[in-house]
Amino acid sequence: MAKKGEARARITLKCTECGEENYRTEKNKKNTTDRIELNKFCSKCKKTTLHKEAK
Ligand SMILES: [Zn+2]
Repeated sequence: MAKKGEARARITLKCTECGEENYRTEKNKKNTTDRIELNKFCSKCKKTTLHKEAK
């Protein structure tokens, strides 16, 4: 049973309004095949904006 590491991918969440890369996180490649989209606070826009997985 290999549970650690293998399915994890490091991703960057990028503000869709200014393009700033504000968040870094990990996702499980096996469970999450779609691009991640999250509403997060952007310090550059000074408001909550949609952040998408950058690649
Ligand atoms: Zn922004």
